[in-house]
Amino acid sequence: MAEDRSFRIRIITPERVFYEGSALMAEFNTSEGELGIYPGHIPMTVILKPGVLKLTQPEGKKEAALHTGFAEILPDGITILAEAAEWPGEIDIARAQAAKERAEARIREHRADTDMARAQTALLRALARIETLR
Ligand code: ATP
Repeated sequence: MAEDRSFRIRIITPERVFYEGSALMAEFNTSEGELGIYPGHIPMTVILKPGVLKLTQPEGKKEAALHTGFAEILPDGITILAEAAEWPGEIDIARAQAAKERAEARIREHRADTDMARAQTALLRALARIETLR
């Protein structure tokens, strides 16, 4: 039955193999919006945006903060190369709150030398970390 099928998930960051295992479904944020991918998906490459990764497994959902990168989607699995990823237990909430406030202040002040795209991405990373702990 389709709902019993799982596919392999590999998530690699510059620091480590963040996750290697399987899932029945994977959800993550991309430049095209939130995607929910099931096994058997047509081949596709997408650009990741910071958000909450959700892996559905027979025993429940696993969640993590997943930041910028690429995902290669194939019928039998997904390979993700991400700049950073954190499990809930690894997230320092005070650091994320401080990063959020810094990014918001930069965006609000919008000085001539502010790199707005960088500030927006930093804000998204902080929000993804906060959302993962919700
Ligand atoms: P900050 O401004 O606080 O450094 P950042 O979003 O710029 O945050 P990144 O460049 O995304 O940080 O990450 C650098 C490294 O620090 C990565 O390994 C990332 O996993 C880790 N990291 C960043 N913020 C946190 C956090 N709040 N909790 C745990 N690890 C974090």
